[in-house]
Amino acid sequence: MKLLRYGAPGAERPGLLDRQGHIRDLSAHLDDVAGTALLPDALARLATLDTADLPAVEGGPRIGPCVGHVGKFICIGLNYADHAAETGAAIPKEPILFMKATSAITGPYDPLIIPRGSEKTDWEVELGVVIGTEARCVSEADAMAHVAGYCLVNDVSERAWQAERGGQWTKGKSADSFGPIGPWLVTADEVADPQALSLWLSVDGVQRQHGSTATMVFGVRTLVAYISQFMSLQPGDIISTGTPPGVGLGIKPRPVFLRPGQTVRLGIDGLGEQTQVTRAAA
Ligand code: ZN
Repeated sequence: MKLLRYGAPGAERPGLLDRQGHIRDLSAHLDDVAGTALLPDALARLATLDTADLPAVEGGPRIGPCVGHVGKFICIGLNYADHAAETGAAIPKEPILFMKATSAITGPYDPLIIPRGSEKTDWEVELGVVIGTEARCVSEADAMAHVAGYCLVNDVSERAWQAERGGQWTKGKSADSFGPIGPWLVTADEVADPQALSLWLSVDGVQRQHGSTATMVFGVRTLVAYISQFMSLQPGDIISTGTPPGVGLGIKPRPVFLRPGQTVRLGIDGLGEQTQVTRAAA
């Protein structure tokens, strides 16, 4: 299934994308695409619905973030060997974890706001993992049973705030609109191999990133098990699994960063596409 949320910010309704590409309203069957609605039993119940019986949603509404009320937005740093190289960093021996503020989350087509004072806003296409069942100290063998599905993430980053201002990366990852997710939460049964997905990103039509989740240093199975040793993972938590090469910071001879009025497009096989137009913070 491709689950989604549509409507005005903060008032999104649950929906489903049918096989013809039309949005169907799920409001009669669940409150939101969030939390315990992502447990295996709840998803199995939704899968039994005949989509043709669900009300069609007309009028092309705004698509919101594909998961609501996200408790934790955990990101993995330098998880592609070739991206680590372009930033001049060593390949990590253990996964690098940092948190993105959940207030950064926006819909896939919402504006990307360049924050006040930012000169180094950058892009990162990433595979997002959405947790279904609570995971606490799980083994790699059991890890995948805790995954509800996957979504596209743009891990937008302010490089000066991330790396030049001291402390943790969180400061450079958390501005409002720095976390577009969606358009869909694609349930795990529809993603045959999360380590065989190509992902790409362009800015104003120029392809900047192109990679494959096959070259992750630590795959999804390892990441879920690893993180669960340090904190419990809860239904609706998101793990953004790192970015392939081609970020603005890595462009030679000098880095390129986003300016107002640019168009960022990104996508992952089977998980849909996002488009954001950048603008300066008011
Ligand atoms: Zn990232």
